[in-house]
Amino acid sequence: MKPLFRADLHCHSTCSDGTYSVEELLKHAVASGLSGLSITDHDTIDAYARAIPLAAELKLPLISGVEFSTTLLGESIHILGYAFDIKNASIQHLCKRHQSRREDRNNKILHLLKKHNISIEIEDIMSQDLKEGTIGRPHIAMAMVRKGYVESVEQAFKRYLAEGKPCYAPSQEITVEETIEVIKESKGLVVIAHPHLIKSHKALKRLLQMPFDGIECYYAIFPSEKAEPWVAIAAEKGWLVTGGSDFHGQIKPKISLGSSWTPEETFQQLYNHYKSAND
Ligand code: AMP
Ligand code: ZN
Ligand code: FE
Ligand code: FE
Repeated sequence: MKPLFRADLHCHSTCSDGTYSVEELLKHAVASGLSGLSITDHDTIDAYARAIPLAAELKLPLISGVEFSTTLLGESIHILGYAFDIKNASIQHLCKRHQSRREDRNNKILHLLKKHNISIEIEDIMSQDLKEGTIGRPHIAMAMVRKGYVESVEQAFKRYLAEGKPCYAPSQEITVEETIEVIKESKGLVVIAHPHLIKSHKALKRLLQMPFDGIECYYAIFPSEKAEPWVAIAAEKGWLVTGGSDFHGQIKPKISLGSSWTPEETFQQLYNHYKSAND
């Protein structure tokens, strides 16, 4: 029997807050029987310099991807970009803007933690968890675990780092609209990430009026009935229906690569788009 075609379009490498390196991630995808992949690191496309030649070697179809953090009506909204031109200057510039946004926010978070007698230095993070790429809250959480301030990453978020908790620091806002514009400028397709997690009804309503190309209906380890309302919205709007695991390795140990996925026809569409954008 032909194996089921599964393409995971949402995962993170050590270029952001995943714990698998680009090489480990691609090899893991092949070992997991995946037929296609996109690495969607937070606010960076650094993975692709190494991922593209290795994926070709492994004969694993790979399309460019990224997960951008945006803000809408005060809520943090994640936007996925796919199949864009890797060399496009606008998307590279947006990644740089995010890098300085993060540096600024990380300093604020570390300052707030100090006020709570938790002493984490940038060096503590860099030396251990981050070999490359962007620092995110999970890296700070891991340093807190290592230094014995909390028992787990989950606890670090729950007590200190999650939105509304005492050491949460908002960052400079980058809008959904400008993010969509940059992805389109780089010949990419724009997809709403995990709509299931959006809390504000008003923000969701506004988001659904924007010019997206797709929506991530199948997500992580959510049961497939959770996808139904989003699949209906995609049908109404003529949007692509995508799926991905949001695999992070040990940061989210319950979620395995390929736990949610995109079927063959949609992946092929994205793959063809990627090929022509990167000609
Ligand atoms: P940042 O991009 O720095 O704002 O960090 C956001 C990332 O932190 C998310 O993409 C998740 O990977 C992770 N995260 C958010 N909330 C939690 C939580 N409660 N427990 C563990 N990881 C979390
Ligand atoms: Zn993450
Ligand atoms: Fe996300
Ligand atoms: Fe993600």
